[in-house]
Amino acid sequence: MTTPHTPSAPVNRSAERAERAAQITKQRCNYCKGLIVWAKTEPKHDAVPMPLDYEPDDEHGNALLWHHDTWGLIVSVLGTKGARQASVAEGHRLRLHHRLSCPDAEKWTTRPATTRPKKTYTRRSRA
Ligand SMILES: [Zn+2]
Repeated sequence: MTTPHTPSAPVNRSAERAERAAQITKQRCNYCKGLIVWAKTEPKHDAVPMPLDYEPDDEHGNALLWHHDTWGLIVSVLGTKGARQASVAEGHRLRLHHRLSCPDAEKWTTRPATTRPKKTYTRRSRA
């Protein structure tokens, strides 16, 4: 079979939008100066921002970026290998949390952005 267009992955407009947004918003890590992309864990104000490696890693990555009209880049963490493989097959790129690759991760002073926001309320005791 000789078809003129044989793309390795189907065109995925959602993935294309996310890649474009990532390219525009990419910045340097304060510590290692590596290229990272910030994304929100959920499309809402108090979502936890998560730094991801700008360079995709379809093999080891578990973070899927998508672009939300209002909130910008959103990250979905894919928990299973099946979900990751399916996303790559659909033309999505996967990325890793930058803390996993940052050589200066131990210097991060702010509490690390976790994949799951922890609801820890520190209330003053009335006693
Ligand atoms: Zn870094």
